[in-house]
Amino acid sequence: MSSSVAVVSSRGAKRLASGHPWIFRSDLAEAPGVPAGPVRIADPRGQPLGWAWWSPTSEIVLRRVERRSDAVIDRAWWRAALAHAIARRASLASVTNACRLVHGEGDGLPALVVDRYDRWLVVQLLSAALEAQRAVIVDVLQELTGAAGILARNDAPVRAREGLPKSVEVLAGGVPEEVEVDEHGVTYLAAPWTGQKTGAFLDQRENRVMLRTHARGRALDVFSYHGSFALHLARGAESVVAVDASASALERARANAARNRIDTLTCVEADAFDYLRDAAARGERFDVIALDPPALAKNRGSIAGALRGYKELNLRAMRLLAPGGMLFTASCSYHVTKPMFLDVVHDAAADSQRPMILRALTGQPLDHPELLTIPETGYLKGLLLENGEA
Ligand code: SAH
Repeated sequence: MSSSVAVVSSRGAKRLASGHPWIFRSDLAEAPGVPAGPVRIADPRGQPLGWAWWSPTSEIVLRRVERRSDAVIDRAWWRAALAHAIARRASLASVTNACRLVHGEGDGLPALVVDRYDRWLVVQLLSAALEAQRAVIVDVLQELTGAAGILARNDAPVRAREGLPKSVEVLAGGVPEEVEVDEHGVTYLAAPWTGQKTGAFLDQRENRVMLRTHARGRALDVFSYHGSFALHLARGAESVVAVDASASALERARANAARNRIDTLTCVEADAFDYLRDAAARGERFDVIALDPPALAKNRGSIAGALRGYKELNLRAMRLLAPGGMLFTASCSYHVTKPMFLDVVHDAAADSQRPMILRALTGQPLDHPELLTIPETGYLKGLLLENGEA
């Protein structure tokens, strides 16, 4: 008779003990005889190891979520877990109305993403076990946040690996096409239904504010999306150029500039590599540059190509920096590790023949917690560099 407990191999138990919550199919010693949902887990000797999300079709069959085996994953459990995650962000309430409330494994809630945009929430349920608990999650989120509406952006490709359909649907209330976000005094419209990620790139909030303190003269925002860095830079710079390959993103950048009464923004629809090369050929110089490309390495196999891309972009950006100019450069590729990124920017600095000073190394903000024992929770790296030329 099959039991409701999932048994993991001793290798799997070791992995859990090291602080990583994932159990792969090869480390599942005995499958539980229950559908997707929370299950108790045990090691081969029957030692209880707590609770995990059970995903029968996924390669990641179990994700541990609770170490206490005497716990019960019910509404009260969800209430405590979500309240804890939300409380971690309390200090952000005074500077923004948009932030990530739950960053999956980083918040001890595997496969769950919840982003708040003002009075609305956008959730991603990225495991079959979460889908099975959808009603209680939505109910508790509503109770804790008083959200006017909750949208599921369940269009992430990883849903397929869980045997789940892709869909974008309202789970509670109503959710508008656009939501006004206030970020440290700059406002922009996020697009929860159609925008990248869940509507905006919340993870760069603090980096935008950091770079803004250096804004002066001519500023450049490469891979601008809807102008997020550009809007902050416009507070201190005389002029800002925003470059992106997407016409619709730039359309929103223009609207966002108007919303902030900024008339010093020029939007350029171009491939970033070409723009940087051509600007250098024209002899242009910028006092401050933001370089925030999309993830160039989508998987392990594309790391080498991605590193060439990062090197090229950074080299070209460094050549455009005026003496004393500041460059903020980022990588959001999970597969490009911190040392790899530092190495590649180092190579670019060497080739640029400019004395590039490392002013700051940045990671993820407090609403995107990166757990040291779970590398998958970390992806964003940033460097603030100064051109030390006189
Ligand atoms: N800096 C933005 C986020 C950038 S996301 C923020 O803080 O909100 C990456 C952006 O790069 C997207 O808007 C995408 O349209 C753009 N992009 C992707 N490939 C590009 C390319 N080759 N040239 C220019 N823009 C590109």
